[in-house]
Amino acid sequence: MISCFYGETKRRSKKNSISSSEGVFTCPEDNLPLDYAKIYPDPDAEVAIMGSVVYCIHYKEGCKWSDELRKLQGHLNMCKFDAIPCTNHCGAMIPRLVMEDHLLYTCPKRRTRCEYCSRDFTGETLENHVGSCQLEPIYCENKCGSKIQRRHQANHRQHECTKRLVPCRYCQKEFVYDTLQIHTAKCPRLPVSCPNRCDVLKIAKEDLEVHLSDHCTALTLPCTFKDMGCKFKGTRSALDQHLEDATKPHLLLVCGVVSRQQHHINSLRTALQGLTLNTSGTLLWKITDYSRRLAEAREGYELCSTPFYTSQYGYKLMATLFLNGNGAGEGTHLSIYIKILPGEYDALLQWPFSHTVTFILYDQTSTVEQACNIVESFVPDPTWKNFQRPSKEPDALGFGFPRFVSHDVLKKRHYVKDDVMYIKVKVDGNKTIAV
Ligand SMILES: [Zn+2]
Ligand SMILES: [Zn+2]
Ligand SMILES: [Zn+2]
Ligand SMILES: [Zn+2]
Ligand SMILES: [Zn+2]
Ligand SMILES: [Zn+2]
Ligand SMILES: [Zn+2]
Repeated sequence: MISCFYGETKRRSKKNSISSSEGVFTCPEDNLPLDYAKIYPDPDAEVAIMGSVVYCIHYKEGCKWSDELRKLQGHLNMCKFDAIPCTNHCGAMIPRLVMEDHLLYTCPKRRTRCEYCSRDFTGETLENHVGSCQLEPIYCENKCGSKIQRRHQANHRQHECTKRLVPCRYCQKEFVYDTLQIHTAKCPRLPVSCPNRCDVLKIAKEDLEVHLSDHCTALTLPCTFKDMGCKFKGTRSALDQHLEDATKPHLLLVCGVVSRQQHHINSLRTALQGLTLNTSGTLLWKITDYSRRLAEAREGYELCSTPFYTSQYGYKLMATLFLNGNGAGEGTHLSIYIKILPGEYDALLQWPFSHTVTFILYDQTSTVEQACNIVESFVPDPTWKNFQRPSKEPDALGFGFPRFVSHDVLKKRHYVKDDVMYIKVKVDGNKTIAV
């Protein structure tokens, strides 16, 4: 029996249709041609088919409806899973179940309003508006943590944001606003007052040291000649004036210092001589730079030997020499004398001094046999006051030979050789025994 049901095939795909475009029918089961004359409506079969129990076509989406086939169309008109055109006419097919959601939230034709500026929009136009609404609060892009309406962002970033860059008003370098205070405290250009309260009002911190050392007019400075004894103290400008005005007193101060130093040098020299004490009773005196010393001697200079002792605890003596002569030999002779100096052991020695003193000027000829030394001796006159125990006065007169040797004789032999002269002073040891 061939039976057919139009209603069913109409809703399903056309592939299973029994009609063809040429009006030739084929069986959907075996594809054999059908004789149109033999096709007829079969009410009994239709009743049977329409009475068969079927599931809703949206069974897979979750519709649990199941009933006779004849009631399917009626069900679909209400089925929540069946799609119908958007009631807002946006053109989309929307299952009834989500229509409410669609109309509220996703339909491009829905009516809505911006939650920030409260202006009305359709769904479509709101999408463009979101991200540009000037009233929407958004986080500051400098990450300062503030939420500011979009329209105030530019002003915030420029004037209020704690993370904005601002220049230090003193050094002009840029800093993040909330670190500026820390910088300012350390800024090298921070103006500070001169601690001396001078007439410079404010000065950059980094320049203060130079100001204090070189420019501050209020600084009290001691005079440059302080170490020489000048007591002046004053500001830089007063000091400059003082230095100009006080040249003479300063010079006097320096002279005083030089003379004190000279005394000091002398006492050091004496101390040094004490350390290299000659106690042999014989002095061998080397006079170097003879020509220079002779020239100096013309101005009256006296050469003094290092002091020497006649024995370890004996008399303290010193030879003196006038290269250009003195007294009766002045200008023509070399004069030589012995002086008795105050010594350490004078209290224990016999006075007057009574030992024979000999002066020898060496002839420095190359062969000793031909040498002709000049020798003079004297035995002290016990009545002469200078052989008494000497006082502490330093300028005791000496005793000796004003005409020891004439300048003419000096020139003849090798008494002066290579500008050097040797003189020996010998004290007769026999009587120099200390107590
Ligand atoms: Zn359904
Ligand atoms: Zn819609
Ligand atoms: Zn808005
Ligand atoms: Zn900010
Ligand atoms: Zn700065
Ligand atoms: Zn100052
Ligand atoms: Zn001074």
